[in-house]
Amino acid sequence: MLQQTSTSRVLEPWRRFVAAFPTASACADAPLADVLRLWGGLGYHRRAKALHEAARRIRDEFGDVVPSEVPVLRSLPGVGEYTANAVASFAFGRPVAVLDTNVGRVLARAVENRTLGAREARSVAHALLPRRDVASFNQSMLDLGAQFCRSSPRCDDCPVARVCRWRREGGDDPAPRSAGVSRPQKSFVGSDRQVRGRVLAVLSSGERTDVELRARLDDVEYGRYSSIVDDLVADGLVERHGRRVRLVGDGPQPTGGR
Ligand code: SF4
Repeated sequence: MLQQTSTSRVLEPWRRFVAAFPTASACADAPLADVLRLWGGLGYHRRAKALHEAARRIRDEFGDVVPSEVPVLRSLPGVGEYTANAVASFAFGRPVAVLDTNVGRVLARAVENRTLGAREARSVAHALLPRRDVASFNQSMLDLGAQFCRSSPRCDDCPVARVCRWRREGGDDPAPRSAGVSRPQKSFVGSDRQVRGRVLAVLSSGERTDVELRARLDDVEYGRYSSIVDDLVADGLVERHGRRVRLVGDGPQPTGGR
């Protein structure tokens, strides 16, 4: 959920999610439609599908226990380096660095004062790890980047300002082109992501006919609407049954009055 999404947006959906699915098998046994419903307005719904698939693999191959080794975690659907390392560090105390966009800025500015390639950033991050309590260190780095070393940094309040190389040495900001540092996202309002979210929100309350679904999105130009629904079908999030459209795995429900 935290991939490309801030903690404040994730908190409530996460609480609902773990209450409904306290174990991997609880998630794996549910239809994808229920997972998508609980995903709610978080967007990037392919993550929900990947999480559902990962839960099935954890149930079937790992006895319902989340694996702790980074290579095994990385073999799960939707799990890349950042997520695998975060789970290994925070859940299992493994000595691996968690490198996201926030940490990437701190490394480039405070530690090196230069633009870092992917391999360099990994190696700098790893070299900084303490011998003990790596999870707290990783959390501190994430917080430092999120709270102070933002795209527009708050250097005057920053707790590491005294030892920050960029602040001491000056020069162009090394963060924007560094590995792990994401570019600003396009505006959500009016984006295809927003329309995808709207389609899924309508279908969350039950199956619709094409006509009913289209009526709920009649402010979207037809060609665009149609290609977004086709993409959702191709992504395995939505399925068509004749003229009816529904979330994958959702049972037919009465549509009267909605
Ligand atoms: S002093 Fe400024 S640039 Fe350096 S780590 Fe703190 S916020 Fe980032």
